Amino acid sequence: MGSRNGQARLRLWQRGFRHCFYCLVPLVMTRGAQCANTATVDHILPRSEGGTTHPGNTVMACYICNGMRGIMTVDEFRAYLQTDHGKERRARLALALRSSR
Ligand SMILES: [Zn+2]
Repeated sequence: MGSRNGQARLRLWQRGFRHCFYCLVPLVMTRGAQCANTATVDHILPRSEGGTTHPGNTVMACYICNGMRGIMTVDEFRAYLQTDHGKERRARLALALRSSR
């Protein structure tokens, strides 16, 4: 994680964003090793689509959701997380992350 991203993360944290924007789990600030609840900065409009690091385009997401959202929009991804498939996939990814250490 670059230092610019690190600063954006700290800024959001200090502004009180301490739950995942998508799945609502309480976030933790970790350095180095990632866990499922690690706070990460997610760009509402992805950087690859021209999204900026402007605060209006950034939210706090857990490590799992950040990796899972892909090209889904915020609404699409939130709806997906409510489905059995979405819940199952998130749980599986969290488990895989835990057992990889
Ligand atoms: Zn999440």
